[in-house]
Amino acid sequence: MSNPGEFLQACADGKIWVYCPVCEDAKNINDVENIDCIGHQSYWGDEPWWHDIRVFKCPECETVQQSKIEYQP
Ligand SMILES: [Zn+2]
Repeated sequence: MSNPGEFLQACADGKIWVYCPVCEDAKNINDVENIDCIGHQSYWGDEPWWHDIRVFKCPECETVQQSKIEYQP
């Protein structure tokens, strides 16, 4: 999935997840409040989104967490 358009489509299709350690459960990226995205310091490849850290607010436990994303079709 090296094409940004494919990645955005996967997001739109609900296939991209973050992990909330408080809930101990995966959350769909469309269901959380996306606060920030921290880019990887030393990754210069063509799929940076897998290496970014997402800062998000979990809608269930209402804590702010950081997670990498996972692809789960
Ligand atoms: Zn949570």
